[in-house]
Amino acid sequence: MPRTALVLGGNRGIGLAVARHLAARGDRVAVSHRTDEPPAGLFAVRCDVTDAGAVTEACAQVKAELGPVEVLVHNAGITRDRPFAAMTAEDFEAPLHTNLLGAYHGIKPVLRGMMRARWGRIVLMSSTVALSGAVGQTNYAASKAGLIGFARSLALEVAGHGITVNVVAPGYTDTDMVAAMPEEKRQSLLATVPMRRMATPGEVAAAVGYLTGEDSGYVTGTVLQVDGGVGMGH
Ligand code: NDP
Repeated sequence: MPRTALVLGGNRGIGLAVARHLAARGDRVAVSHRTDEPPAGLFAVRCDVTDAGAVTEACAQVKAELGPVEVLVHNAGITRDRPFAAMTAEDFEAPLHTNLLGAYHGIKPVLRGMMRARWGRIVLMSSTVALSGAVGQTNYAASKAGLIGFARSLALEVAGHGITVNVVAPGYTDTDMVAAMPEEKRQSLLATVPMRRMATPGEVAAAVGYLTGEDSGYVTGTVLQVDGGVGMGH
């Protein structure tokens, strides 16, 4: 059954792959975009996920155009890597605002509609770093680990309403975020991955596709790692 889906941070990278995956299976898909031009062929709304009012307005636009949001994917994310000793409060807060608070802003306007419909799928994009930690990423890891506690608590609150809340934790994935790393660091990180390669955005999108589909109604509060084996055992 086609559903209305909103991918926050859906204009490039993993988010765009998720949007295309959901559109290919027949969902009515909206993406949020912030700086770039919106991607072709998808309904796009402009918002910065750190701005609660803008996200609420974007959700209202999606509802007016495509119907109430039934599938929400919070994918928007940033890094602001620094050794902790050199990290300012602003450096620490920036990923928390986008990665964690952005999830609050995205879910708040759509949850009551899902509860009324007694059906909903929420996926939050975390990272293996939430589980393992990473040098220079105290801020990012805190934001991504926070998403797990958030998802599990919300999953408990809304399970009786037919709504699932899950987390996807990708490992290194071939997008702009990883391209921004120095080549030497990238190679040394890849050496730690059992599969010795990065994920493709499509492989992460397929995991989101499962967790937002009709067949995953009994899967909630889980963390699905898509990481080539790097986070095994967490
Ligand atoms: P990219 O940097 O390629 O894309 C990030 C996306 O988030 C863009 O669409 C960007 O929009 C959006 N975004 C960032 N800040 C905001 C904001 N304040 N408001 C709205 N949108 C925003 O990243 P990836 O595709 O690699 O990552 C996607 C998600 O997956 C992120 O949450 C990331 O943390 C996570 N992840 C990525 C991994 C990787 O190896 N690539 C590994 C593990 C997790 P804009 O174009 O406007 O900047």
